[in-house]
Amino acid sequence: MNIEEKVTKTLTELGATDAPAIEALFAEVRAAMETERSALISRGAADQRERDKLSKNLRDRWLARKNGMVSLIDENWLNKAPKELKPVVGKRFNELRQTAEALEVEHLLKALPIATGRLVEPQAKLAGHSEIRAEPAVIPRLCDLTLPGYRRELGSIHPVTRVLREIEEIFLGLGFSIETGPEVESVYYNFDALNIPESHPSRDDWDTLYVDERTLLRTHTSPVQIRAMEKYGAPLYIIVPGKVYRHDNPDASHSSMFHQIEGLAVDRDIAFADLKGTLDFFAKKFFGEKIRTRFSPSFFPFTEPSGEVSISCVICDGQGCRTCKESGWVEVMGCGMVHPEVLRHGGIDPEQFTGWAFGLGVERYAMMKYGIHDIQLFFQSDVRFLEQF
Ligand SMILES: [Zn+2]
Repeated sequence: MNIEEKVTKTLTELGATDAPAIEALFAEVRAAMETERSALISRGAADQRERDKLSKNLRDRWLARKNGMVSLIDENWLNKAPKELKPVVGKRFNELRQTAEALEVEHLLKALPIATGRLVEPQAKLAGHSEIRAEPAVIPRLCDLTLPGYRRELGSIHPVTRVLREIEEIFLGLGFSIETGPEVESVYYNFDALNIPESHPSRDDWDTLYVDERTLLRTHTSPVQIRAMEKYGAPLYIIVPGKVYRHDNPDASHSSMFHQIEGLAVDRDIAFADLKGTLDFFAKKFFGEKIRTRFSPSFFPFTEPSGEVSISCVICDGQGCRTCKESGWVEVMGCGMVHPEVLRHGGIDPEQFTGWAFGLGVERYAMMKYGIHDIQLFFQSDVRFLEQF
């Protein structure tokens, strides 16, 4: 039964025989009235005439002496209420009537905005923006300008963003530029073009989040190497910060989403010595001048030769401690000379150009820098954690 039907019945017919049932009925009526009122206000009116008409309709529906909702409630609920329920019905009815009076035309006219599209258009034309569509600019609801404003707490920069920016700054200073690419990537850019064969375990469903057979959430920022080579050719000096995704269960050191920074330098006569010099410089800038770097052989399909960079442990200075598992060294990134096949996929002639690349995990750097032991803390949005930075 809708509210229009309910107001034509008596309380007894509606089964409202005690105070809670009556309160509930009146609450329903008030909610209906408020919904209609706010729907009208948020809708606005095209001009003065429409505004007058809409206001009057709403007012008549609720306050008309004959067949207005309030009159019907007076007639069917209050007048016909059993004697013992009269006090509670009367109290609620008076409140309802007061609320309804807020719908009086004068009140509603103030609140109901008029669209002023026609006023906006000529001004926009004058300013030479004739292509601007005359969207009806709605006058905001009247508000009390003397009330104090809302105070918004200032946030701080997220530790991951902080570290990202710090690393970016170092490479920008070396003449690298920042390049970005899509997070939803094709299998071609994520694997094929990077010389990662079909049989490679990282292509497995268990390691990669696939969208469909040919699309996935990128597992590393390396696809941007190919995209940038295709776009700019050589020489090329870029870093690629961004989010990457893995099919990993969350624990203290794994997250299904994390950030990487990729670096790529392609030029004539680039050798492994350039790679070592640059990354050693970077490590000292980021972790401190005292840091020593160590390069050890590794394997990645897209670099040849490939290496891993370790730094002397920041905690024990190479003496051996729990953080470095007593080895004195902490591995911080992978790197290598760009595989000729990868240069070819990027449209660059490996006979003329060589290059090096590296990749690092940003969260790991932030964890080392700030002594954080659980990667999950970065993504839980816990203010108590975040406000420490
Ligand atoms: Zn150590």
